[in-house]
Amino acid sequence: MRPTYIDKTLAALPVSPNLVEREALCRTFSWEGPRRELAGLPGGGINIAHEAVDRHALGVWRDQIALRLLAVDGTCRDISYAQLSQLSNRFANVLTRLGIGRGDRLFVLCGRRLELYLAVLGGFKVGAVVSPLFSAFGPEPIATRVKLGEGALLVTTESLYRRKVAGVRSEMTSLRHVLLVGEGDALVNPPQGTFDLASLMAEASDEFAIVPTQVDDPALLHFTSGTTGTPKGALHVHGAVLTHYVTGKYALDLHPQDIYWCTADPGWVTGTSYGIIAPLLHGVTSIIDEAEFDAEHWYRILQDERVSVWYTAPTAIRMLMKAGPELAHQFRFPDLRFIASVGEPLNPETVWWGVDVLGLPIHDNWWQTETGGIMIANTVAMPIKPGSMGKPLPGVEACIVRRLADGSVDVLHEPDTIGELALKKGWPSMFCAYLGQDERYRKCFSDGLYLTGDLARCDADGYYWFVGRADDVIKSAGHLIGPFEVENALMEHPAVAEAAVIGKPDEMVGEVVKAFVLLKRGIEASEALRAELLGHARKRLGAAVAPKEIVFLPSLPHTRSGKIMRRLLKARELGLPEGDLSTLEEGT
Ligand code: AMP
Repeated sequence: MRPTYIDKTLAALPVSPNLVEREALCRTFSWEGPRRELAGLPGGGINIAHEAVDRHALGVWRDQIALRLLAVDGTCRDISYAQLSQLSNRFANVLTRLGIGRGDRLFVLCGRRLELYLAVLGGFKVGAVVSPLFSAFGPEPIATRVKLGEGALLVTTESLYRRKVAGVRSEMTSLRHVLLVGEGDALVNPPQGTFDLASLMAEASDEFAIVPTQVDDPALLHFTSGTTGTPKGALHVHGAVLTHYVTGKYALDLHPQDIYWCTADPGWVTGTSYGIIAPLLHGVTSIIDEAEFDAEHWYRILQDERVSVWYTAPTAIRMLMKAGPELAHQFRFPDLRFIASVGEPLNPETVWWGVDVLGLPIHDNWWQTETGGIMIANTVAMPIKPGSMGKPLPGVEACIVRRLADGSVDVLHEPDTIGELALKKGWPSMFCAYLGQDERYRKCFSDGLYLTGDLARCDADGYYWFVGRADDVIKSAGHLIGPFEVENALMEHPAVAEAAVIGKPDEMVGEVVKAFVLLKRGIEASEALRAELLGHARKRLGAAVAPKEIVFLPSLPHTRSGKIMRRLLKARELGLPEGDLSTLEEGT
């Protein structure tokens, strides 16, 4: 049996952690502190791009490498803070020349390449609202989001434009301009109605005075998929930079000399908050890998780039696990000191795999598009309880509640009671609207709390445990069953690579637990294995909670940010409409 805690000896940590006395800091923390650590705009106000880049470009970190870009063709390009400041100034001048400014919505559909960073930072500098999209989106989801967000300008690559945008361009009536990134040198013949970005950048000046944005001015628009209907556009303000700063410091333990790698897609909120903003705020060097996942390639990056802080997601880790420990053991990671994960439940097995194979536990943390930044985390100096999301960060107050019929909520103080996870309103990166959906936004709040839509419990030591999305929870014979718990038990079996669990309607007990299982490479599905897994789950969970049915699948459906789409498995099971599939990863 594994121990329930992974304890840390402070003396054994290679770098002195930014957060040691969590409880003490939580008691005294005020957002005024980080506000003073950041610069603010020279004439007053606050702008994310100034804090992330220009502040450093004017100071001692000006020649520090901000971005190390690893291109798919194997080339590598380093951009210093001073260069990033100048290039994003150029981009801001290009935008200004095209008449894009304060409040205009700027969409970016572009892989992990330099222009993505310039568009986001240049957009902040002119006071525009930036919305990065998944480059794997097809024409429909792109058009839907640009229309919902009333996009004025789109930055994309020439090939993405031809394949995905040109055919729906006429539907996006708000779109005034399209800037194209060429694959090589300047575009000789940009398609009609588009500009060649490289040519405009070449003509633009390196100097730009940032538009004086204020704390409450919108900066980012992130779409998050609803179960049905249209995606929700969560709007975030420039003041969110305080959360990005504090969480980069305490949840990711960023230090200026770090080599940091965030593997999130730029279309997912993690790709912006922690792929772009937080690392720059801390003056670290970010590794930007343009390529798609490949286990060997990833291990090579961790080793050769000497990554010290790595922020990734459970699906990616599970894919590494699937590739086997032998592959990992061909590499060495002496510089790696902190690994964090977000996006979906991190099974205890996965945390332990980190210890066994990489020599470090994986630190789970929790947040959502709506929260704009990490809220609950396993921080570097605290003991980990594998399977738990950790504890609220300084400046964040969490609790477990039950919604009442009159719209108010009851706070559930008894440890380990399952209820909805709620956060006290008012942290700086809290979303300030669902675009055009005021009523939906209002319904997320009650009694000064933001209600997250996730079910969780808090144990007697103050650790939070994820139970499931409120929509995914299973009710069987009066028991509330979190899919995560059942999936964890299945994942403990050596044959299982991944599991997803849903509730299947049943006349007798309401719902029975049904599991979909992906087996590890080289393992054959058989009736004997199914019986063995059912027996294993029953032994671990008891008959009331264990799955009654197990189906083997060659792959499980995931969102592009790596979350298992349980609702899709359920819709398929019940023959119901599959709903909004724009975030479904192809091939699943
Ligand atoms: P998104 O807004 O797409 O980032 O999705 C946010 C949702 O992902 C949360 O509401 C949770 O349901 C899930 N999630 C994020 N992080 C975790 C985590 N550490 N453990 C469990 N679920 C998570």
